Amino acid sequence: MANPSKFRHLGARIPKGVLLVGPPGTGKTLLARAVAGEANVPFFQLTGSDFVEMFVGVGAARVRDLFQQAQDKAPCIIFIDELDAIGKARGVGVMAGHDEREQTLNQLLAEMDGFDPRRGLIVMAATNRPEILDPALLRPGRFDRHVVVDRPDVRGREAILRVHAKMVKLAPDLDLRRVAALTPGFAGAELANVVNEAALLAARRQKSAVTMEELTEAVERVVAGLEKKSRRMNDREKRIVAHHESGHALLAEVLPTTDRVHKVSILPRGLGALGYTMQLPFEDRYLLQRQELYDRLTVLMGGRAAEQLFFGEISTGAQDDLERATDMARRMVVQLGMSEVLGPQSYSRGERESRFLPGVAFPTERVYSEETAEMVDKEVADLLRRCFYRAVQILEHNRGHLAALADLLLTDEVVESERIAPLLAGAKMPQEELEAAAERSVH
Ligand code: ZN
Repeated sequence: MANPSKFRHLGARIPKGVLLVGPPGTGKTLLARAVAGEANVPFFQLTGSDFVEMFVGVGAARVRDLFQQAQDKAPCIIFIDELDAIGKARGVGVMAGHDEREQTLNQLLAEMDGFDPRRGLIVMAATNRPEILDPALLRPGRFDRHVVVDRPDVRGREAILRVHAKMVKLAPDLDLRRVAALTPGFAGAELANVVNEAALLAARRQKSAVTMEELTEAVERVVAGLEKKSRRMNDREKRIVAHHESGHALLAEVLPTTDRVHKVSILPRGLGALGYTMQLPFEDRYLLQRQELYDRLTVLMGGRAAEQLFFGEISTGAQDDLERATDMARRMVVQLGMSEVLGPQSYSRGERESRFLPGVAFPTERVYSEETAEMVDKEVADLLRRCFYRAVQILEHNRGHLAALADLLLTDEVVESERIAPLLAGAKMPQEELEAAAERSVH
């Protein structure tokens, strides 16, 4: 970044748009500023919500001006905070006032297509709700690089606390590791808040330094504030989420065609997501074979399958997995002709791009009979049930490995690939599953 010509020389494609994704308070704006500072280039900032209440045409004009100014000053960085405020998917709910946002969004898309990144202009944007963005924003040549800016793990929290603690006087025996252990799920801004609150408490009590007592109380106060905003997990919920995520991770590692696991986390992130499993490579795929889709479906089922296996019960935590799996299964049957019963035929017309399956569109119009509709429903249900059963079988076969990963997650909250791979190295596909796969490949 500091030297665009070096990258050009290496033949690397310079990104036009970089999207920072992460919960509020994790320092996305600071990161963008730091990039501009590091590259020693001007920084232009704009906030999505500023455009919400504008007269029609004003937002688009401001976007145009901003890009004009930036191109004159290039190399430089444009940063758009709260991209979701202008970048919400178009055509969702038609009401007055949407015109303005749509015009602004169209102008942004046009500007992003118009400039040449070799001149050193890079657009960065931040959002905590990537799922509602208009897919057009995420296409190649626009915001096609995604950087996850996450809540810190326990070591990260300790480091952040150390930075903020420099501004206050701490009691000499104070152990910031203990404070870090008390604050799972806290973002940088919240940790800053804890230190600040503790310093105020110490001052009010006329103490000469901040002690563990004030810090503990400050943590409780911040937690109380957070609990109003979002629920935090209790121990049992944490155990369920740890097994759920380990189920996804183990299947992703063991199945033949799936991407390796990059990172598993049980730190709450975003709306509704209690944990997540991130697989590599983080890239778009345009052609997938049936076995790959079948394996992906099985990975999606892994969370619920692990809950079933270890707790004998299922929870609401698999909602997003099930939505994605159902979307994918329906597409396989209706659009991709991958059902043996329905045969190699597409039953769809019209399209809407999928969030989950790159390069594949979703049918908007049904062009088949009632009888076919019934067969489709049955095929989709069968496919999903088979994948769920397959997930349960594979996890059961590797129960010990799953439990070991879940235990590690419960203590460390975030586990990266370097530690996952050796831990799951002995995990295997059950014999009957290998035979079934061989069977499938013959037909
Ligand atoms: Zn899941």
